Amino acid sequence: DRPPRLHRTFIHLGDGDGAPGSPIRVMQWNILAQALGEGLDSFVRCPLEALSWSRRKHLILEEILTYRPHIVCLQEVDHYFDTFQPVLASMGYSSSFCPKPWSPCLDVEGNNGPDGCALFFDQGRFELQDSANIRLSAMRIPTNQVAVVNTLRCRTTGRSVCVAVTHLKARSGWEWLRSAQGSDLLRHLQNLVQKQAGAPTGDPEPDIPLLICGDFNAVPTEEVYRRFSTSPLGLDSAYKKLSQDGLTEPQYTTWKIRPTGECCSTLDYIWYSQDTLRVDAVLEMPTEEQIGPNRLPSFSYPSDHLSLVCDFSFKE
Ligand code: NDP
Ligand code: CA
Repeated sequence: DRPPRLHRTFIHLGDGDGAPGSPIRVMQWNILAQALGEGLDSFVRCPLEALSWSRRKHLILEEILTYRPHIVCLQEVDHYFDTFQPVLASMGYSSSFCPKPWSPCLDVEGNNGPDGCALFFDQGRFELQDSANIRLSAMRIPTNQVAVVNTLRCRTTGRSVCVAVTHLKARSGWEWLRSAQGSDLLRHLQNLVQKQAGAPTGDPEPDIPLLICGDFNAVPTEEVYRRFSTSPLGLDSAYKKLSQDGLTEPQYTTWKIRPTGECCSTLDYIWYSQDTLRVDAVLEMPTEEQIGPNRLPSFSYPSDHLSLVCDFSFKE
């Protein structure tokens, strides 16, 4: 007797000249750390039974395996070694994990270790070329936020793509820190994509395409969003493609009710290199009615953040 999962459909973008061929499917999702959901978050309209790990772990895995992304970028992972790494490895995914240095999960009694960012990729589609775990700095000072960066070679096209997953500092008052952390990540990525592509002599090779998935904890009007959208890396945010004008972010990627009130906002993004990658399809956001009056998480959906799923192709 389980309530139905949220049914969402892909919107295919018909601006492609050529056939999509076999696009690369990417998921961005803050899955909600088990220790935070039960211990610190105070989701006052979500029954405790809906937050039990025995229920949530099936819903999280079902969500991932419903869409079968080639690349899965997760935040708030505090069950990597005992659940996600082994289960997804058995389905053909290779992965990296970077725990937060001082995870707030560790303050919760009975915690399962620190939460962090995790990146999974389908080994049939990609081969790992390079991997780095990064502790983000702000004005040269190391912070409590991290990123995982993998450079992957696509086995179908032979082309490389650099994928990053991050989770920036939460809460209001920390806009300056998110901006500094975002700048630090952009600096790292600039070095990576240019260093690897550039031959020491001869013709300069084009930069490696970038995919940056994250819970930025920042609405689109924040400084860090502006830094990403105006960076010299030529990034665009994929979910804008869902809007009528193609320029507007969705109304929400997270929707929850805490004692302080309802929080419905857009904080999660998939950034991509617009010169080298094309968005072929975007998974629709569920409607307010589908989400329901008690919002998220719920018996139907295991996190307070919605998953973002897009299909990308390399441009010619
Ligand atoms: P953040 O402020 O980035 O938030 C951590 C988590 O709390 C996020 O996953 C966030 O989720 C969630 N969160 C956001 N808003 C709320 C809310 N209103 N109620 C409940 N949870 C919320 O934390 P930091 O990474 O900066 O870590 C802070 C914690 O780290 C401290 O509380 C402390 O426990 C620990 N720490 C310990 C140190 C030590 O010396 N032992 C040193 C430094 C930190 P989301 O992103 O989805 O909003
Ligand atoms: Ca959270």
